[in-house]
Amino acid sequence: MRAIQMVDLQQQYARIKDQIDEGIREVLDTARYINGPAVQSFAHELAEYLGVKNVIPCANGTDALQIVLMALRLERGDEVITPSFTYIATTEVVALLGLTPVFVEVDPKTFCIDPKALEAAITPRTKAIVPVHLYGQAAPMAEILAVADKHGIPVIEDNAQAIGSTYTFPDGTTKKTGTLGLAGCTSFFPSKNLGCYGDGGAICTDDDALAAKLRMIANHGQSKQYYHDVVGCNSRLDSIQAAILRVKLKELDGYIAARRKVADFYDAAFAGHAKIRTPYRAPYTHHVFHQYTLQLEGADRGGLNTFLASRQIPSMIYYPVPGHRQQMFAGKGGVMPHLPVTDDLTTKVISLPMHTELDDQQLFHITGSVLEYLNA
Ligand SMILES: *Cc1c(COP(=O)(O)O)cnc(C)c1O
Repeated sequence: MRAIQMVDLQQQYARIKDQIDEGIREVLDTARYINGPAVQSFAHELAEYLGVKNVIPCANGTDALQIVLMALRLERGDEVITPSFTYIATTEVVALLGLTPVFVEVDPKTFCIDPKALEAAITPRTKAIVPVHLYGQAAPMAEILAVADKHGIPVIEDNAQAIGSTYTFPDGTTKKTGTLGLAGCTSFFPSKNLGCYGDGGAICTDDDALAAKLRMIANHGQSKQYYHDVVGCNSRLDSIQAAILRVKLKELDGYIAARRKVADFYDAAFAGHAKIRTPYRAPYTHHVFHQYTLQLEGADRGGLNTFLASRQIPSMIYYPVPGHRQQMFAGKGGVMPHLPVTDDLTTKVISLPMHTELDDQQLFHITGSVLEYLNA
C-alpha cells in the first residue's frame, strides 16, 4: 500500500506531468515570468469556468481578501462580520486594515455562518460580511444575501476551500460559489482543490467598476505606468503558477468527483455510528470536500489521532483554536464573544485524509482503523 497522506500532490502530479512540464517550459522559453500570456489566459479560463465577468489573479488567497477589503474604502473601526470557525486568514486581514472583526456563530451542521447570528450581529458600523464556504461546502447564501441586502451591506465570499462548488437558490437558479456576493476570493495554495505549486490566489466579481479598482490596488494603486492614484500593494500570480493552473483547471471537475467518491466511501463506512457524525450535505449545494471532517461524540479525539498515527494514517484538527480565542485578537474589540457552537466544534472535529489519489485499499485501512479505535 502506498503511504497515506492528508493530500497526495506527488501522485496527482505524476498523472499530468507531461502537460505541466510543457506549460512550465513554455514560460521559461519565452521568459514572460511576470504577467505573461499564461496569466491572462488562466484568468480568462477561470472566469469562463466560474461564469463570472472578471477574474483578478493575485499572489495568494489572503491577499485576495485584503485587496477586496481595501477596495471598499472602509474606515478604522468599521466592522466586518466573519465566522470565528475558519482559517485565520479570513479574520487576520480585517484586523490588519484597522477594521474590527465581529465573530459570529456557525451552524453545527454546515460549519458555516448561522444566518440568524449574522442578523443579530449587524450594527450601524457593519460594512462587510465575509462568509466562508468551510471544508468545501457553501454557506447558506440565500439567507445571508437576504440579510445583507436588507441592510445594504456587501458580501465577500471566502471561497478558498470551495472552488468549483455550486449553490442553488430557492428559485432554482444555480451559480458557482465565489460568484454569489459582490466578490469572491480564492486561494491556489498547493493543497487547495485547485492548487498550484507555490502560492497563488484570485478574486472574482461581476462588477466591472470594482474589478478595475481591484486590479489597480493589486498593482501598486497604479492607473497608468508610474501614476499611482490610491495606496495599493504588489500582489501578482506568477506566470509559472498560472501555466500550472491552466492544466489543473481542466482537471478540477474530475478532482471534485474523486473527492466526493472518497467522501461517499467514508460516509458508508461510518453511517449510523453512535460516536461519529459524518459531514452534513446541505441540499442547496454541491459539497466539494476540501476536507472530510467528522464530529466525534463521546470519543477521545486525541486518542484517535494518536492511534491513527500509529497506523501511519495522518489526521488533522481544523481548527484547534477559533479566531475569537486567538492571541492576536486579545484585548481588541472589547468583550469576548459568546460562541458555544464554535467552541464545541473546536473540541469535536477531526479531518481524515482527503485527496484525489486515495484508493480503496487505503480507504479500507483508514475506515477500519477509525472503527477499530472507536469500537474498542
Ligand atoms: C487557504 C485559505 C485562505 C488563505 O489562502 P492563502 O493562499 O494561503 O493565503 C483563506 N481562507 C481560507 C478559509 C483558507 O482555507
